[in-house]
Amino acid sequence: MPTPSIETHSKMWNLWHGCHKVSEGCQHCYVYRGDAKRGKDSSIVAKTQQFDVPVRKKRNGEYTVPSGSLVYTCFTSDFFVEDADPWRAEAWAMIQERSDLRFMIITKRIDRFHQCLPDDWGEGYDHVTICCTIENQARCDQRLPIYKAAPIKHKILICEPLLGPIDLSGYDIGSWVEQVVVGGESGQEARPCHYEWVLTLHAQSVEAGLSFWFKQTGANFIKDGKSYRIQRQFQHVQARKAGLNR
Ligand code: SF4
Repeated sequence: MPTPSIETHSKMWNLWHGCHKVSEGCQHCYVYRGDAKRGKDSSIVAKTQQFDVPVRKKRNGEYTVPSGSLVYTCFTSDFFVEDADPWRAEAWAMIQERSDLRFMIITKRIDRFHQCLPDDWGEGYDHVTICCTIENQARCDQRLPIYKAAPIKHKILICEPLLGPIDLSGYDIGSWVEQVVVGGESGQEARPCHYEWVLTLHAQSVEAGLSFWFKQTGANFIKDGKSYRIQRQFQHVQARKAGLNR
């Protein structure tokens, strides 16, 4: 996810926990990996204790999440996961109530976007960014036409975990995407992320005049034909050193 730039505060809002694997990028999902260590079944989706965080108030009546904060949603699930359909209207109502915040929603289920919207969505809420994740060309070609056509005010394309080369030409990304974010896969079984794939996405973003963020290398990084195992704490800094961010 993009780091907050203007906002002084950021907040993680984990509305529900649990998910179902939908594509190649989900194979080594960190939610499943984390839950497995605790013997928890990740396929059971449940509301969390954090569900109403954006509208919680202090004794003095002020919201606990300060105005202007950037709120990242659903980091152990997907906002558009089917199981959460009964709860999403309430979530949208909270998002609408807090139009003084900025919300980031990241999804692999852009195909469910239209059936999951509140009645007053219109052309989108000004304070909501919906990020679509793709991991290879097949998912790009499946999801991008839907994403491009979707009424969303702010769109960020996330290529993570990057599992193959992606050609974005033909999607005119400069006219509707605000930023391209790229990252490799983490964990012991991480699949390789080739630097040339990152460079290709960078070149396409530059050509389109877009902001680009090489977020992290992943654990299994291939550069100039050499394979590097990179520990988690170094994956962000190594990516930054590539000097591709703009
Ligand atoms: S959509 Fe995200 S949270 Fe859900 S299984 Fe896939 S990687 Fe995990």
